[in-house]
Amino acid sequence: MTTEPTSTPTSTVFEYAPAPESRSIVDLRASYGLFVDGEFVDGHGSSFKTINPATEEVLAEVAEADDADVDAAVRAARRAHTRVWSRMSGSERAKYLYRIARIIQERGRELAVLESLDNGKPIKESRDVDVPIVAAHFFYYAGWADKLEHSGYGTTPLGVAGQVIPWNFPLMMLAWKVAPALACGNTVVLKPAETTPLTALLFAEICQQADLPPGVVNIVTGAGGTGQALVAHPDVDKVAFTGSTEVGKAIARAVAGSSKKVTLELGGKAANIVFDDAPLDQAVEGIVEGIFFNQGHVCCAGSRLLVQESIAEELLAKLRTRMATLRVGDPLDKNTDVGAINSAEQLQRIRELSQVGEDEGAGRWSPPCELPERGFWFPPTLFTGVTQAHRIAREEIFGPVLSVLTFRTPSEAVEKANNTPYGLSAGVWTEKGSLILHMAGALKAGVVWANTFNKFDPTSPFGGFKESGQGREGGRHGLAAYLRGGDL
Ligand code: NDP
Repeated sequence: MTTEPTSTPTSTVFEYAPAPESRSIVDLRASYGLFVDGEFVDGHGSSFKTINPATEEVLAEVAEADDADVDAAVRAARRAHTRVWSRMSGSERAKYLYRIARIIQERGRELAVLESLDNGKPIKESRDVDVPIVAAHFFYYAGWADKLEHSGYGTTPLGVAGQVIPWNFPLMMLAWKVAPALACGNTVVLKPAETTPLTALLFAEICQQADLPPGVVNIVTGAGGTGQALVAHPDVDKVAFTGSTEVGKAIARAVAGSSKKVTLELGGKAANIVFDDAPLDQAVEGIVEGIFFNQGHVCCAGSRLLVQESIAEELLAKLRTRMATLRVGDPLDKNTDVGAINSAEQLQRIRELSQVGEDEGAGRWSPPCELPERGFWFPPTLFTGVTQAHRIAREEIFGPVLSVLTFRTPSEAVEKANNTPYGLSAGVWTEKGSLILHMAGALKAGVVWANTFNKFDPTSPFGGFKESGQGREGGRHGLAAYLRGGDL
């Protein structure tokens, strides 16, 4: 075991007996092909390994789709769109979506265990958050499939959607993209992230189990080059991307001048703002949820804590006490609060930016925390004395690292919160309803949570301003991205 630098413990943690979830429910194959036209096929390209970030064990060998594979997938999606899916009534499409939703629920444990194995997130999150939200998205958009005339965006689908998703919520991002696309009558070619392809491939099996017509959903695994080929394919009508702002900008450039429609869900540097009248214990739970949920690999993470100066000391003492109770370790253990960092590259990035925070003079603190020898780990970390000029206050760290700034007045809080190129989410903690409404109006963020954080619901639109992207996913608004009338 290694121990990251820490200071004095501030509370006693209960000893928990390990409670590992069995991985026997997952039937891992040694190798996986691509899912094209309803079948698993060998790719023309090479293959790559996907590993368990908690142990560095190789889980499987996965095909890397090349340009010809992407072309075959897009052609299958076009055929399915023209011949079957766009001709089917909304109520018929809904039946498939309901069936998929029910199978996701039935196979929920298997999906959750596989997600935790491939991604490193704690089983209690994949089991209680990711998978239920995934099923809910399919149920919700199944409900829209036969009611599109009431959406306000017409009923005409766009055609073939090329969808590229990241590694932080592999299944959830798949659901946010695939469910509305299919409900509106589009067919899809989806590229999961290189480090987390396995649940998308299990989803392909679920499509087979649901008897989804061949070609309606196609999955092409691979790295950035596969994503590039998909985005650039001339027969793709719609590009939907979630990931880094840098790649989002490259995609926007790649499709500029074409007739392709684009939605981009990019990074964030959300402010979680605590006023002096907030219920502090509740706020501490929201701060922890905001930045340590999913190891902080969350685009809308509350990575900047803005706390009113008069309560800063008291709040930070409570926060340190709470952080000392977080259990970091085996993602499959049901007690685990913070799992593994998704990849060696991401760990390196978190380490580098944290070092920059220290070098620039911020105060660094982590609770005593034993980290496993193998795998990729980073302890929950707090930086105090952070100013607007610090890089850790401006750049997305995408890890379990919280930067704390203070403010005196609501207008100073707004000023600081909005002082970022991003605009995805924000949180406000106060007992005053009028202050919540004032802040919600003043904050330039797509989502503003009041006295809670990181709450997701399929009925509620999600998306950003400024460099956090364009378009909305979820809710009625999410249909606009997949219907011809969506941009009228
Ligand atoms: P990327 O934006 O590179 O990856 C997102 C997806 O895009 C992946 O499927 C990736 O494939 C694919 N991709 C990469 N390059 C291209 C391209 N040129 N054209 C089309 N698709 C492409 O994120 P990273 O995984 O590299 O993470 C880097 C940083 O981005 C993180 O540290 C974090 O700060 C931020 N990030 C933000 C997310 C968010 O939701 N806002 C999600 C993930 C990361 P592949 O997996 O093979 O690289």
